[in-house]
Amino acid sequence: HGNHHYPNSSSKSSNANRNRQNQFSDRRQKILQQRKSLPIASVEKRLVDEIRKNDILIIVGETGSGKTTQIPQFLLGAKFCHDGKVIGITQPRRVAAVTVAKRVAEECGVELGQEVGYSVRFDDTSSSSTRIKYMTDGLLLREALLDPYLSKYSVIIVDEAHERTVQTDVLMGLLKSVQLARSNSASHGQGLNFGNKSVNSVTSSEKENSGQSNSFLKKEHQYAPLKLIIMSASLDARTFSEYFCGAKAVHVQGRQFPVDIFYTRHAEPDYLDAALITIFQIHLGEGPGDILVFLTGQEEIESIERLINERLTKSPQESQKLLVVPIFAALPAEQQLRVFAPAPSGFRKVILATNIAETSVTIPGIKYVIDPGLVKARSYDPAKGMESLNVVPTSKSQALQRSGRAGREGPGKCFRLYPENEFGKLEDSTKPEIKRCNLSNVILQLKALGVDDILGFDFIEKPSRAAIIKSLEQLFLLGALTDECRLSDPVGYQMARLPLDPVYSKALILASQFNCLEEMLITVAMLSAESIFYAPRDKLDESRTAMKSFSSPEGDHITMIKVYRAYSEFLEKKSIEMGKAKSEKALRKWCKENFINSRSLRHACDIHRQILGHVQQMGLSLASCGDDMLEYRRCLAASFFLNAAVKQPEGMYRALASGQVVQIHPSSVLFRQKPECVIFNELVQTNNKYVRNLTRIDYLWLMELAPQYYAVQN
Ligand code: ADP
Ligand code: MG
Repeated sequence: HGNHHYPNSSSKSSNANRNRQNQFSDRRQKILQQRKSLPIASVEKRLVDEIRKNDILIIVGETGSGKTTQIPQFLLGAKFCHDGKVIGITQPRRVAAVTVAKRVAEECGVELGQEVGYSVRFDDTSSSSTRIKYMTDGLLLREALLDPYLSKYSVIIVDEAHERTVQTDVLMGLLKSVQLARSNSASHGQGLNFGNKSVNSVTSSEKENSGQSNSFLKKEHQYAPLKLIIMSASLDARTFSEYFCGAKAVHVQGRQFPVDIFYTRHAEPDYLDAALITIFQIHLGEGPGDILVFLTGQEEIESIERLINERLTKSPQESQKLLVVPIFAALPAEQQLRVFAPAPSGFRKVILATNIAETSVTIPGIKYVIDPGLVKARSYDPAKGMESLNVVPTSKSQALQRSGRAGREGPGKCFRLYPENEFGKLEDSTKPEIKRCNLSNVILQLKALGVDDILGFDFIEKPSRAAIIKSLEQLFLLGALTDECRLSDPVGYQMARLPLDPVYSKALILASQFNCLEEMLITVAMLSAESIFYAPRDKLDESRTAMKSFSSPEGDHITMIKVYRAYSEFLEKKSIEMGKAKSEKALRKWCKENFINSRSLRHACDIHRQILGHVQQMGLSLASCGDDMLEYRRCLAASFFLNAAVKQPEGMYRALASGQVVQIHPSSVLFRQKPECVIFNELVQTNNKYVRNLTRIDYLWLMELAPQYYAVQN
């Protein structure tokens, strides 16, 4: 697209224009056809009728039937957006919210951010013209802090409810009471009360009768009723129907072709290797069709991506036909849509995905699925107060969802990388996340929404009493709750405002007092992005050497700050020297040489920018401790005191709060050094318990800086 001038440029450019227009309308035609051929298209009228008739409707339909992309468009067409109201659709995953919004904007022929937009943590494209808004469930919960009645929505669709993430569960509880409050206000409302504009949702008088209703909303204004739609890909709608007082459930027929399932003869000692072998077996031995591989996280995906590409470079005849596309949560937005683009003719696409591709995003063209049978999941031990991320076997229903992805457009094959008898041993379905996670975030959110009685909250499935109490205790120790178990002012309110894990929010608030908020912002951003460093198995030594120039003897947090700063400086220097486009390339090279994951680092920069916005709004003082890293380390100790560990004989560590015996993860810069006392951010459980992201601290600081915990204990 150069700006060359030709003598007859006008006719050339109008030709080009016409060509573009033709291409454009071809694509629109194709999209229209695709939409019409979706299973859900034939039941549009029936669905819209049911939604009109029922204030709560549960829609169950197989993945790929068109629920997420089509139903909001049906509702827009059927005028559910009267008076400028919005249809909100929540997703448990940001990638799904973003990619689906882009797709639907294209289907509607509008620019993203106009009638169709999305809003996720750290990224918002919606505007006042947005009528269909895709968002994460967590984001809608945050909106409720400012607008407790969610008054701008006429319909809220909770999508992927079967996933039962914590945020989805809490959201359903909230929506149940918002809907009740809005319909009460509509039927016997006291009229609009413009005199009293406070929409404070907190009422303590209702605490006593909170048995099975979440009625913490004051009824002051008159609101239009709210329609609720719960969408699920699991065929069992009973749980939802019971929770929403016998709400009606409708089924949307999907299209499923037979899928042949293959198992390995023996357990695979190295499932990544097994996956790699299977990819090439399919590629070289099976007919056309794309491959979808389920992996547990970004790190695994990127390591397999490298291994495939290496093998392809070595054997050029294969390389001409295989295209690797990853999809995971932290993938930069402009790369996420690549999974949907058809492979160039003659190519086979191999998609490396996390469990995002189970039901959240439906990718066309898949004929082969490779399922190692694992998933990364949170688990929480209330007795120890420790949450950890572990790789665990999938449930049967997850395995079925995964294999189902191979039979969307024709018969397919699924290769499970475990022996058949293992399948029988899997749990039927996954335990809801709320029963296996630290609840301090949930509690903080509920308290901020005005729910005082957490134990009495009408959860779709109640977390254990022990877990609630442990998390309350943790919030109290962080200073977010008062002795009466109310949000403290200002710390509790400030913590609730930040869209971060409560300990990270606390770290930022403390950092402004320790004059190291600049450093802590970088820390929190880097910790929120997964796997900044990578160490390919065959290049371990090289990567260690590369990292040496950044590594700090004080630990991983300062190392991360150094990397972040080196990256920002390099970027700034290069973009002045060579312009933005070229500097991006130089940057990728720089990252590669230093064994730094440029995707993750860009993600961290994004997060940094967004949190910076939040703390500025809150008026926290943005100072840097300069070279005085002592203050910064003391601030880490004051923030993460619940995750402190002291050295034991033989290089083991004892986590002080939980009493667990842990080891330093080999990726830590302190792995060899083994300091006496450390704080850590993450516990990973494989065969051993490892702690990651560590900084050396002085044991005595704990008693000085967290007396509420350590002075009492000792
Ligand atoms: P469901 O929510 O029932 O699983 P979706 O509405 O997500 O179904 O998907 C319907 C169809 O739209 C699928 O066939 C899928 O392949 C297609 N689709 C969804 N998102 C995109 C996209 N970004 N690009 C191309 N096709 C898409
Ligand atoms: Mg969907």
